[in-house]
Amino acid sequence: MADFCAIRGYVGICFRGIEMEDNPEAAVLNHQELYRGKIVNLYVDTIRLTSGGTGIREVVRHPGGVTAVPVLDDGRLLLIRQFRYPIQKYIFELPAGKLDSNQPPLETMMRELEEETGYRAGTMDYECSFYTSPGISNEVIHLYTARNLTPVLQHLEEGEHITVIANTLAECLQKFQAGQITDGKTILGILWYRNKYSLK
Ligand SMILES: [Mg+2]
Repeated sequence: MADFCAIRGYVGICFRGIEMEDNPEAAVLNHQELYRGKIVNLYVDTIRLTSGGTGIREVVRHPGGVTAVPVLDDGRLLLIRQFRYPIQKYIFELPAGKLDSNQPPLETMMRELEEETGYRAGTMDYECSFYTSPGISNEVIHLYTARNLTPVLQHLEEGEHITVIANTLAECLQKFQAGQITDGKTILGILWYRNKYSLK
């Protein structure tokens, strides 16, 4: 969340920045950590509702992540086809990775782009940040546009099953409309790119 605030330059939408009187769910009666994992922690909080009753909030705490629309010099966009265990499928995605406290978002995205696609970005422009599922998680993803790409060595982590494809924007949009691109951040990134850079 701190990254989100720093990047946006304001705290109005920052969880930590919410004034108590602006938070109708600030009174936590019980805080229970059910699971502390390598990537996520799961909490179940009992809160005091404004009506006077109590409510349960299940929260997946996530470190946040980065994703990028990589644009080749000929205008094609790079997507990766990756196996995702929770849905037991290969899906098309933009390259992405989770944040950790040791590396700023921009550097994380530069590294992930190289690792997953085998391309190094000459420019990496910040575009926007968005919550992926605010009803249950604080996960935020920062979106970049990567350009001036030069091929380097792809180096996948153990357990990553990834192939790289290059599609025109029209082909990406066709895949989305045909139900072949179903990943939220990828849909958002493609539509953001179309709206900002190709509709002028
Ligand atoms: Mg990844």
